[in-house]
Amino acid sequence: MQATPIELYNADGDSIMMPASLGICPTCQGKGVQALHGAAFTHEQFSEWHGDERDAYFRGDYDTKCETCNGTGRVSVPDRSQWTDAELQQYENQQSEASSWESRVGA
Ligand SMILES: [Zn+2]
Repeated sequence: MQATPIELYNADGDSIMMPASLGICPTCQGKGVQALHGAAFTHEQFSEWHGDERDAYFRGDYDTKCETCNGTGRVSVPDRSQWTDAELQQYENQQSEASSWESRVGA
C-alpha cells in the first residue's frame, strides 16, 4: 500500500495535493480490524456474556474490517518533512471542521 496524497484547501479555497506518508491507523491501532464495529463495552457487560460468546470474541469471530483504513491498518498522514507548519495547522483545522460538520448532519 502506498500513501495517497492529501487534499488541502488553501486560504483561497483552492485544493492542493500534499505529499503523504503512511501512519498507523488511529481507529484500529494498525490491526486492520475492529471488534463489533469498534463498539466499546464495559467489563460489567462483558461479565454477563456466556462463555462461548467470550470465546468467540477472543477468537475474533466478531471482528469486522476497520472502516477507517479499509483493513490495511495504515492510513495516509501528512508527510511532515514536506509540509510547512502553516499547512499542518490548516490541515488540522480542516479535519476538525469536517468532524464537527459530520456530527451536525449525523444528529
Ligand atoms: Zn484501521
